[in-house]
Amino acid sequence: MGGHHLGVGDVVCLADLLLPGVGAAVEAVVLGDTEVRLTVRSTVGSAACAGCGWRSSGVHCYYQRCLADRPVAGRQVRLDLRARRLVCGNGSCGRRTFAEQIPDLTRRHARRTNALTTQLTDIALFLGGRAGANLCGRLAVTTGKDTLLRLLRALPVPAPESVPCLGVDEFAVRRGRTYATILVDMNTRRPVDVLADRTAHTFADWLREHPEVRVVCRDRAGSFRDGAHAGAPQARQVADAWHLLHVRREALIDRVEVGDLHRRPVAAGR
Ligand SMILES: [Zn+2]
Repeated sequence: MGGHHLGVGDVVCLADLLLPGVGAAVEAVVLGDTEVRLTVRSTVGSAACAGCGWRSSGVHCYYQRCLADRPVAGRQVRLDLRARRLVCGNGSCGRRTFAEQIPDLTRRHARRTNALTTQLTDIALFLGGRAGANLCGRLAVTTGKDTLLRLLRALPVPAPESVPCLGVDEFAVRRGRTYATILVDMNTRRPVDVLADRTAHTFADWLREHPEVRVVCRDRAGSFRDGAHAGAPQARQVADAWHLLHVRREALIDRVEVGDLHRRPVAAGR
């Protein structure tokens, strides 16, 4: 790719902007029409072995790693990282060498920076696979529906104690012919789970597996009231349709594709 090479001062400024506080130094930047390419090297002294945790700074070899990062001004961003394979000094460890990971930037086997993975996961959470992939196309991020769904499925199952204040609401699927239930963490304003229908029975079952719920924020619909009574007698019920709607709108979760979330392990585990 051709492009405009930045001077030393420009490179420093851009590095501060793109990789703040990350253990990596930007050595060169090429500005293209559709792409920004950064040549990056690790500045981390030592790294922990993925097998045993032994810290090492002994270089076995260098290799090139290409990572996609968040787009800038409508351009794709690629990092050409000069990555290190380090020697594990622990004699009882099965690995003799391991690939160094740069904290806050890389993960094992990942071809994206951690920041881009976080951004794509948020897009997948709010929009689901298909709409999310469409948005990514507009944002100069190359990704597909399947990748976004994989990110959703890879999300850690939230710890039970993490949802003390639960919002519950119904939403229409398949153009309003059936209804499903969306559960929202009212503190983080993030979707927690999607239930396949809007019955009291299904909601009560979910609550029985989440005894940490202290407050159920619902609209005035009778089925959620009955479900909360049956499944979470310990919880205080708050009929607050306005607040619920506000949170739902803010999280844009009325656009989550139900089918997408159903394939998540958090839902499948029930
Ligand atoms: Zn090791």
